[in-house]
Amino acid sequence: MFDKELSIFKEALNNFKNDQLSKGNGSAVAVFEDVFKDINSIHKVENNYIYVIVSDILTKFKIDKFYLISLNDYVKSLTNGELGLKFITLEDAKKEEIALAPAQDKEKIDPERSKRLLRPEFTFENFVVGESNRFAYTEAKQVANSPYASFNPLYIMGHVGLGKTHLMQAIGHYVLDNNMKANVIYTSATQFADDYFRATMTKNPDDIIKFSKSYQEADLLLVDDIQLLENKEKSQEEFFKYFDYLHEHNKQIVVTSDRPASELKIMARLKSRFSWGEVVQLGIPDVTLRISILKRKLSFLIANPNNVPEEVLEKIASIYKNNVRELEGALRTYVNYCLSFESEFNVDNIQKALGAHLPKDTVEFKNDDVRIIKDVLCTYFRINEKDLISDSRKSHLVYARNLAFYLMREDLGLQLKEIGVLFGNRDHSTILHGYDKIKELLENDTNVVSDIDYIRKKFKESIASND
Ligand code: ADP
Ligand code: MG
Repeated sequence: MFDKELSIFKEALNNFKNDQLSKGNGSAVAVFEDVFKDINSIHKVENNYIYVIVSDILTKFKIDKFYLISLNDYVKSLTNGELGLKFITLEDAKKEEIALAPAQDKEKIDPERSKRLLRPEFTFENFVVGESNRFAYTEAKQVANSPYASFNPLYIMGHVGLGKTHLMQAIGHYVLDNNMKANVIYTSATQFADDYFRATMTKNPDDIIKFSKSYQEADLLLVDDIQLLENKEKSQEEFFKYFDYLHEHNKQIVVTSDRPASELKIMARLKSRFSWGEVVQLGIPDVTLRISILKRKLSFLIANPNNVPEEVLEKIASIYKNNVRELEGALRTYVNYCLSFESEFNVDNIQKALGAHLPKDTVEFKNDDVRIIKDVLCTYFRINEKDLISDSRKSHLVYARNLAFYLMREDLGLQLKEIGVLFGNRDHSTILHGYDKIKELLENDTNVVSDIDYIRKKFKESIASND
C-alpha cells in the first residue's frame, strides 16, 4: 500500500539532498541522511496529505522544524500541487489505527450511555430564550442541526450560572435524539484531567489507549468549563491532540468557558484553535427573561404554577439578577418553604423563606454572622482566628480560609471586596480564587461536601441559640 506515495517521498528526499550538495552543504546532508535513514513507511493519505511515520516525537519535532517546509514543497512540485507532506509519530499512528479500524465497534456505542452523561432536563425545549442568550441559542441549535458543517469548535462563554452547561448539553440531547448512532461524549475539563491522570498512573499502555480511544471515537465532544485546564499542562497537551484529531476528522467539538479564550492561561496553540469556529456569549438575563425562566422552572416544581402570583416572581427576579442558578435555587427554596409550612405563596414569605440566602443588599447584613462562621470554622479546624486571617500557606489553613470565603459569599451574600476587607485587606481576586477552589473541590470531593454540611449545621445551631 502507498507504494506510489512512498516513492514520491523518497524522491523529495533525494531532491533535497541534491540541492544541498549543489550548494556545497555536505555536512548538512550528512545530518539530514542520519535523521531520515530509518524513515520509510506511509501511514495514510488523507485530505491530500501524505502522512509519513517517524519513530518518536523528538524526530518529528526536528523534522517539522528544519525540513518540513522544503520537503513539502518538493512533494508539491512532484505532484503538481496535488499532494502535501506531513509527519506522524508511530505512537499516534497506532492510536489512530486502533480508534478507526474496528468499525463494528462503533455499532456497539450505547446511546443510553451517552444520554446518561447528560442532565435530562438540559434540553433546548427547557432553555428559555431572551435577549441575552438568543444568539448563543441560535448558533447552538445550528450546530446541533448540522454538526461538523457549521462552526467547529463552538465556544460558549459566560459567567457562572448563566446556562453554559445547559446549552451545551442541549446540543448533545438534540444530536442523540436525531441520530442514535452518534457518539456523544460529555465531560468537564476537570473530569478529563482526572481521567487522564488515572490512565497514565497505572503505567499500563492499555489504559492510555482506552482513554484516547474513548475521545477519538467521539462524533460530538462536549467539554465543559475548559478554563479548568489552566495550570494542567499535560492535560492541555493531551486535549490538544484530540482536538486536532477530531477537527481533522470533521467531528464536532463544543467547549464552554467562563472567559474569552484570549484570557485563558493555557497553551497558545489551544487558544488559537478555540477561535477557529464560533464564539458565543451568554449575557446577564434581563428581568423579563428572569421572570420567564422562573415560570418555566415553576412548572417543574408544582402542579399548578398559577397559584404563585406574578408579584412573587417579580420580587424574586428583582433580587437575583446575575445568576440563573441562584435565581432557580431561590425559587425552589421559596416553594419548599411555602409547601412545608402549608403557607400561602405570597410576597411576605420570600423574606422568611430566603432569609440567610438573600444577597447582602436586600437584608441588613449581620456582623454576627461573620463572627459565627469564623468561630465555627476555627473550632472545627482547631485553629485560632489569627491563623485563619494570616498569610500562612499551610495547607489546612489555606483550606479553612477558602471555606470561609466560600461560605461568606454563598451563604451570607457578601461581596468579594467585603470578604477581602474582613480577611486582612486581601485583594478581591484572591478571595475569588479561594472561592473557585472550593467550588471545584465540591464537584468531586465528598470530604469537602461533608465539611461544608457540618459547618452549615453548626452555623444554624449557633444562630438559633443566639436568637
Ligand atoms: P453554567 O454552566 O453557565 O454555570 P448552568 O448551565 O448550569 O450554568 O445553568 C444553571 C441553571 O440555570 C441550570 O439549572 C439551568 O437549567 C438554568 N438556566 C440557565 N439559563 C437558562 C435558560 N435560559 N432557561 C432555562 N434555564 C436556564
Ligand atoms: Mg456549568
